[in-house]
Amino acid sequence: MTDTVSMPSRKMAISQANVVIVGAGPAGIGVARVLRHLAIPDVRVLEREKIGASFQRWTIGTQFISPSFPSNGFGLTDLNAVSYDTSPAFSLRREHPSGGEYANYLQQAALAFGITVNTGIDVRGLEPDGEGIVVRTSHGEVRARFVIWAAGQFQYPSVSSLSGAEHGVHSSLVKRWAEYPGDDVLVIGGYESGIDAAIGLTAAGKSVTVLSRAAPWAVSGPDPSLTLSPFTKQRLDALTRRRSIALIGDADILGLERQGDLIRVLGANGRSWTTKPPPVLATGFAGSTKLIDRCFARDANDRPILTPQDESTELPGLFLVGPEVHHEGHIFCFIYKFRQRFAVVARAIAARMGVDTEPLAPYRANNMFLDDLSCCDATECLC
Ligand SMILES: Cc1cc2nc3c(=O)[nH]c(=O)nc-3n(C[C@H](O)[C@H](O)[C@H](O)COP(=O)(O)OP(=O)(O)OC[C@H]3O[C@@H](n4cnc5c(N)ncnc54)[C@H](O)[C@@H]3O)c2cc1C
Repeated sequence: MTDTVSMPSRKMAISQANVVIVGAGPAGIGVARVLRHLAIPDVRVLEREKIGASFQRWTIGTQFISPSFPSNGFGLTDLNAVSYDTSPAFSLRREHPSGGEYANYLQQAALAFGITVNTGIDVRGLEPDGEGIVVRTSHGEVRARFVIWAAGQFQYPSVSSLSGAEHGVHSSLVKRWAEYPGDDVLVIGGYESGIDAAIGLTAAGKSVTVLSRAAPWAVSGPDPSLTLSPFTKQRLDALTRRRSIALIGDADILGLERQGDLIRVLGANGRSWTTKPPPVLATGFAGSTKLIDRCFARDANDRPILTPQDESTELPGLFLVGPEVHHEGHIFCFIYKFRQRFAVVARAIAARMGVDTEPLAPYRANNMFLDDLSCCDATECLC
């Protein structure tokens, strides 16, 4: 069912819109659906590749860590759903979908929601323009009253903190671990991506050493944004029992340098490791807001500063949805978290357009309308 809702564009026919949504991942499709519920006219979704493109790029074998279950009927929306009335578990019949499977779910969801996506349009920048915003794209300009930035993180890897990063390979760029060169591989970074890489490399018969500044595999805590997920931990435990993976949890890596046909990984306190294959850099993601850096003020941790409606403080009319949304210690990096802010953004836009917000009532009833963050204290787990 791929792309029946996509319109590949040679030359974009539109030059004006009420709302432009940039990106057709879970954030873009999810928020587009809420705007449709509100019957906001003239909403355009611009996507540089196709619906679910980031998931199509995942390494073969990588799966969702958060489980899907068709529990919507009992008021517990599938953790990986972008709306309260869809469920990847139901449509895919998978508990931990692969990237390709999840992209199929997003394409089916967009079709069911009646959302048309303009594919093949790369957004290059935003400019303030009177009361609106000009969206500069590979296919011309669109003038919009509001822009919702939903371009995600995955296609914007972070390597800049390491000198000599060109001697490594970012984990997001590897298609198959079995084809990765060498038998002994160093992985830099020990959070979800690093451990997933280590598990994939081990499954391909390689011996792996993980170098990490901290030891998230040894940390237990209630916020899944800060610890390894149970799915990753249980797979890792099975491998460490078999001694297939060495985990070094106090290695603060500063850079990489080439020495002949070897690569030296330099750590703090004079420590170093030498390897022939390029180390895997599981160093996280800079995020797509870097593309429009001037449109956001940043906090001390370099995160975009947002109003309580997730609007930029620098460019009124620009809203952010997805994993880069952050408020006072609350990290919205999982789908089940950031989907709860779609209705907050939609309500703000509807209010300014004079559109009735009554259709948002079911969102609140289904835990999809989180405007009071005092309720989300992840430390409130008793066991
Ligand atoms: C290996 C891995 C496993 C994960 N597992 C889970 C999990 O189990 N559960 C969970 O909740 N989350 C998980 N995540 C995180 C989750 O995938 C992201 O939070 C989610 O994809 C973010 O959705 P998004 O729509 O904001 O971004 P994306 O999915 O990246 O979508 C952004 C879209 O915007 C498009 N785009 C980007 N830039 C532009 C541009 N300039 N112009 C036009 N289009 C553009 C892209 O092509 C893409 O289609 C995982 C992430 C990874 C890497």
